[in-house]
Amino acid sequence: MLQTAIQGAKNLLIGLGVTFKNMISKPVTFQYPDVKRTMPQRFRGRHFLNRDENGLERCVGCSLCSINCPVGCIHVVAAENDPRNPVSPGERYAAVYEINLLRCIYCGYCEEACPVDAVVLREHYELADYDRDKYIATKSDLLVYPEPNRFRHDILGNTIKI
Ligand code: SF4
Ligand code: SF4
Repeated sequence: MLQTAIQGAKNLLIGLGVTFKNMISKPVTFQYPDVKRTMPQRFRGRHFLNRDENGLERCVGCSLCSINCPVGCIHVVAAENDPRNPVSPGERYAAVYEINLLRCIYCGYCEEACPVDAVVLREHYELADYDRDKYIATKSDLLVYPEPNRFRHDILGNTIKI
């Protein structure tokens, strides 16, 4: 009887020790969404389309990203640039550029295939939404300037500056 009571008290103290240890240790959880986790630099999250230093769209509509996409979720329609008012530095630009973010497997092949560093995947991971139509990212969703890391994608699918 006495032995059982001693064992019970010992177990209680061990349990309390674990509780107190966790009370004073640094939490591993975040107060999301007030606090955001910093993702590794090479994390492949949301896509962006870059502009160059002159503000022109880097994308020249070559479709290499689309051809190399293993799930066929990029749709590019190229058009000829007007030399007096070019959209991109090349002969052509992407008149239509769409990515189906629900079909995408975030492999990064599009980023690797792009010869002009136009399409990039960055650390933005807040991609949840209630509306499937929001997952067709168009040029207006994807184009940012000057640096994608200064933008994020809010819960409604809008690109907002941070
Ligand atoms: S990350 Fe992969 S699956 Fe997604 S668009 Fe790029 S190539 Fe396609
Ligand atoms: S994003 Fe790059 S690979 Fe894709 S169409 Fe534009 S220039 Fe070509």
